[in-house]
Amino acid sequence: AKDLGKNNCQFYTSEMNAHIEEKLTMLEGLRCALDEGQFRLLYQPKVDLRDGSVFGVEALVRWDHPQHGVIGPDRFIPLAEESGMIIALGDWVLRTACLQNQAWQRAGLAPLRVSVNVSPRQFEESGLVQRVAQALQDSGMAPEWLELEVTEGVIMRDLQQAVAKMAEVRAMGVSLSIDDFGTGYSSLSALKSFPISTLKIDKSFVRDLGRSSGDEAIASSIIGLAHRLKLRVIAEGVETEQQRSFLRDNGCDEMQGYLFSRPVSPEQLLTLLPPPVTA
Ligand code: C2E
Ligand code: CA
Ligand code: CA
Ligand code: CA
Repeated sequence: AKDLGKNNCQFYTSEMNAHIEEKLTMLEGLRCALDEGQFRLLYQPKVDLRDGSVFGVEALVRWDHPQHGVIGPDRFIPLAEESGMIIALGDWVLRTACLQNQAWQRAGLAPLRVSVNVSPRQFEESGLVQRVAQALQDSGMAPEWLELEVTEGVIMRDLQQAVAKMAEVRAMGVSLSIDDFGTGYSSLSALKSFPISTLKIDKSFVRDLGRSSGDEAIASSIIGLAHRLKLRVIAEGVETEQQRSFLRDNGCDEMQGYLFSRPVSPEQLLTLLPPPVTA
């Protein structure tokens, strides 16, 4: 029994070491990935539920790892957050998205609004507003074509400070939306003080629309709540015609999901949009 205990301990130790080692390797990789140009953005169309038109896109980051292939953000954003790398990475995302959107506008596409995810540490960082202003200035894109998506978690950490910062962003003419709405803990009374324009219904509530009356009740309540607060509401993760028709019939304004399109490269996005108007 004594030996077994010892072995167990060793087992955990080496497994933990392996875990820590993997993290360190990943962190080192993350550090040079930015300099090496290993990140790229995909864009997922956001669609108006009434007329089916694409009015915007959400930028979603990917890491082309030289050894491990494409790595999704769920696997490296948490590490980037923890290490502080998110500030440099987030800044790159913001600038790249603004530059891309401005290039599309210059090419004569009907103007789109580009949405950028902002994680908690990024939102709290003191330089955020200045970084947004700089990205707008350097790209030449008008602020009305930029939206920041923040989660409820971001806001609830320090409510007063978050509301003040949101107001600064709004004052610049940039829109804000609450991502993953319904999964966090923001109190409904706080919601009315947020200078936001849109609520995004989390995909966990969209998945079972048409099958679960509980999720249907949640989705239609969020839609009703948003509208009473004079906000727009978008559903993410829409994969089926059934989900789409439930949302449309219940007054949801916008949708995003595989049913219309997966996140795609800038080149692929052009094939999903009406052709540019050339003079
Ligand atoms: P999110 O902001 O909630 O983004 C939605 C996720 O759902 C994306 O995953 C998207 O590809 C996926 N998705 C879209 N349509 C569907 C659908 O119909 N069905 C299903 N099952 N999934 C769908 P992705 O691209 O892997 O991103 C995961 C998360 O990583 C994002 O969740 C966001 O929190 C974070 N993230 C992505 N890009 C960035 C970024 O540039 N900065 C920061 N801070 N976070 C990012
Ligand atoms: Ca998002
Ligand atoms: Ca989400
Ligand atoms: Ca999320």
